[in-house]
Amino acid sequence: MIVGYPFSAVVGHDDLKLALLLNAVSPAIGGVLVRGEKGTAKSTVVRSLAALLPEVAVVAGCRFSCDPAAPDPSCPDGPHESGLSPQTRPARLVELPVGASEDRVAGSLDLERALTEGVKAFEPGLLAAAHRGVLYVDEVNLLHDHLVDLLLDAAAMGVAHVEREGVSVRHAARFLLVGTMNPEEGELRPQLLDRFGLAVEVRASRDPAERAEVVRRRLAFDADPAGYTGAYAGGERDLAQRIAAARERLPAVTLPDDALRGITAVCAAFDVEGMRADLVMARAAVALAAWEGRDEVTPGDVRTAARLALPHRRRRDPFDDPGQGLDEERLEQALSEALSPDDDSGDDGPDDGPNDGPDDDGPGGGGASGGEPADAPPGEGGGTGGRRPESPGAPYRTRLLAPEAVGRGGPAGRRGRTTGESGRAAGARTPDGRLRRLDLPATLAAAAPHQRGRGRTGSGLVLRREDLREALREGRESNLVLFCVDASGSMAARTRMRAVKGAVLSLLLDAYQRRDKVGLVTFRGEEATVALPPTSSVELASGRLARLATGGRTPLAAGLRRAERVLAAERLRDPRRRPLLVVVTDGRHTSGPDPVVTARRLAGVASVVVDCEHGPVRLGLAGRLAAALGGTAIRLEELAADHLAAVVRDVRKVA
Ligand SMILES: [Zn+2]
Repeated sequence: MIVGYPFSAVVGHDDLKLALLLNAVSPAIGGVLVRGEKGTAKSTVVRSLAALLPEVAVVAGCRFSCDPAAPDPSCPDGPHESGLSPQTRPARLVELPVGASEDRVAGSLDLERALTEGVKAFEPGLLAAAHRGVLYVDEVNLLHDHLVDLLLDAAAMGVAHVEREGVSVRHAARFLLVGTMNPEEGELRPQLLDRFGLAVEVRASRDPAERAEVVRRRLAFDADPAGYTGAYAGGERDLAQRIAAARERLPAVTLPDDALRGITAVCAAFDVEGMRADLVMARAAVALAAWEGRDEVTPGDVRTAARLALPHRRRRDPFDDPGQGLDEERLEQALSEALSPDDDSGDDGPDDGPNDGPDDDGPGGGGASGGEPADAPPGEGGGTGGRRPESPGAPYRTRLLAPEAVGRGGPAGRRGRTTGESGRAAGARTPDGRLRRLDLPATLAAAAPHQRGRGRTGSGLVLRREDLREALREGRESNLVLFCVDASGSMAARTRMRAVKGAVLSLLLDAYQRRDKVGLVTFRGEEATVALPPTSSVELASGRLARLATGGRTPLAAGLRRAERVLAAERLRDPRRRPLLVVVTDGRHTSGPDPVVTARRLAGVASVVVDCEHGPVRLGLAGRLAAALGGTAIRLEELAADHLAAVVRDVRKVA
């Protein structure tokens, strides 16, 4: 038995602890997202919550944790008789590994047994295990997209359901969702971000004394986990009792009108989307009052609730840091306006004079130094300095760039060819894992010759496992198109960048129509930047592209290395989606190591080099780069779909 670190022994992390405790009191708040760098013990704190949660009463023998007082009518282990004596078990904290299979998360339905034995055999997954407990996802920002979809469905409906070939199973799945992430490794999809009730940012303490205490406690725990935990048993018991008491108090806590007005005023002031923020804030404020043993929500509760519920919900520029805290001043102002008994119509005499103050900002006030493009991306000031970004040339229809090999089971889309669950029929095969798509004619054909040998007498077919055939289909998949764009001086020369931006914009629009994910890496000066981590939002990519500053030296190898890292992270997050790397460059490099060496490391990735070299003398460096990448090179001028040369080449390739 692994002994967990005691919650009450955690030093600091006050917001994180409070957010977890409030959710323990009121799971309706909707969970916690914990953001912070590595080594801040976020996972330790989250895991330590489990020991504090009240036990759950369950129907004995039910694998889906039915509540004896209100069993799930659709429970696969049901129907349960009423009046059974309940069992209690500790609340669970179930960890969802980011690389888990769909079957492991949603549960698996044994289609083979359903067909050959006529039983609906369902093996519960992690969503079932987490029902009435905590579902914890470490590195939630790296969670595969198809698991994110499963999670969003379950979190929205409180129900998980699995369907295979018309056989379906559903069961209740309500859990407290807790995620931890290191924002340096990529952001969360907005839909998932919005699912988390509260969000907290954790940092290691900067106070040496506090750091020393953290180390001291950790060493003591590691030396003797059981003894250490024993020393905190009293503190743990107190917290558990306080949670239980707060849960009992919760229904009696009232939310006065002025506190509710404060909540809605703050949400309006921060321009949050929809109504979820208001609801979460109200629930968190009520839970806080219950936690502190009060029967009424105070302005202080509202303030704390805002700090925990709003940071990840502010409407913001897509490139803002979602980890940024709340603007405290704005919070205070909104609160005081809503909470102070405002003396409207009391004494409105001297207040509405026409010129209210001498310090009104006139036009041009604020003292901006002028002339600087305000939206130049940070950290790209090198090279030729503050050159105004070229706007992209007009977009056009591009030819189809796609991985040449046929993929396997990629997400549906319109780019690369893939075998999978949809598309045109491409034969049948014996399943190499669990059967997912029955090919009935092929299965019958496989079983038919053996009927006599198997001693069939009646009218029913004798079906055996080895008869089962799976339909094989070939369709189009959606890919990750990662652009790696050279923004250096050689490219920027003589309005070349306008054409390049126009080309990338055209490819982006093409990616949008084909439902691809896109990402954008740029390089210039000394470094490469992920201008846009992989996203499905092409608007973001094109906005970023338009604002891309150019000039400076050409660190081509750095650009490729950065692309390699983005692809590696994305392979973890979304392994079914095949990448297509599109390098847009003239192939020159004037900074850093030889790009050909780096390019060879990317040789397994389908890639295209869009050769931007022009002028009478050509070095053919892009072609050399394409060869190292194991991909193809096309000239910028060949990118347009109606370009004759492109058409001829396509025909040759298909033939
Ligand atoms: Zn049940």
